[in-house]
Amino acid sequence: MPEEVAVKVKEVIKRTHNVKSIRVFHDNIKFFKAGQFMRVILKPNNKNYTRWLSISNSPTEEGYLEFTKKLTESDFSKALDELREDNELIIKYPFGKFIFGGEFEKIAYLSGGIGITPIRSMVKYIINKKFGTDVHLIYANMTRADIAFKEDFDKMREEYDKLKIEHILSKADSEWKGRCGIIDSEMIKECLPDYKERKFYICGPPGMVTSMKKIITDDLNLKKEAIFTENFAGY
Ligand SMILES: Cc1cc2nc3c(=O)[nH]c(=O)nc-3n(C[C@H](O)[C@H](O)[C@H](O)COP(=O)(O)OP(=O)(O)OC[C@H]3O[C@@H](n4cnc5c(N)ncnc54)[C@H](O)[C@@H]3O)c2cc1C
Repeated sequence: MPEEVAVKVKEVIKRTHNVKSIRVFHDNIKFFKAGQFMRVILKPNNKNYTRWLSISNSPTEEGYLEFTKKLTESDFSKALDELREDNELIIKYPFGKFIFGGEFEKIAYLSGGIGITPIRSMVKYIINKKFGTDVHLIYANMTRADIAFKEDFDKMREEYDKLKIEHILSKADSEWKGRCGIIDSEMIKECLPDYKERKFYICGPPGMVTSMKKIITDDLNLKKEAIFTENFAGY
């Protein structure tokens, strides 16, 4: 069973205007699988705030664990925003079955907003482990400024020619040349002509995950065994 461990902040990385990654470390970082999540416990001024957060680094990126939070007005978010290098916090890990370890040859990731975090871990893992998996990511956000890990994914795409990325914005600015709207069955068919051969990994707010699952089973007629999901309850 995962136990609580005290960790120290190694680095704080601003990903977007309202998304921050926190890298933490402790002695003997435990084995975890790409895509798993942790319990993060913050105790500012004798308060106690906890949230489930996915691990956004890959097990192959050693020496630290990274979690990435969309900052809101909540007390947890405010306490997280105050974290600086060397501050201490508590985590409990690893949890979760939304994982990928090279089982399938062709996969598609459908992600909404901050739901990209476990996917970022998995894609990096696929590249570092040289699984050769054909990966197609469709990543939906409201605006260009909301796209988390944009440069990181751009670099991964340069490094790995079996990674394709499609960004889609629901509130695009006039200079946006990419796709607009939300992910629907027509778009999936257009981006993924071989969708029948793929396993679908979906992560985002519960509403998004439910509607994606419905599209894949009802409109694309795929079996539910072809779908793996993680619900970011709380959004
Ligand atoms: C497996 C898993 C992985 C997650 N990974 C990430 C991640 O990588 N990055 C990230 O930003 N978020 C992640 N989340 C969501 C995260 O745990 C928080 O729920 C979310 O960030 C909102 O918290 P908040 O403090 O910003 O807002 P709040 O204001 O606390 O939350 C908004 C509303 O949601 C309610 N709420 C909060 N948490 C939950 C919950 N777990 N279940 C039901 N209702 C809830 C609150 O009561 C409030 O009404 C994950 C959730 C799960 C379950």
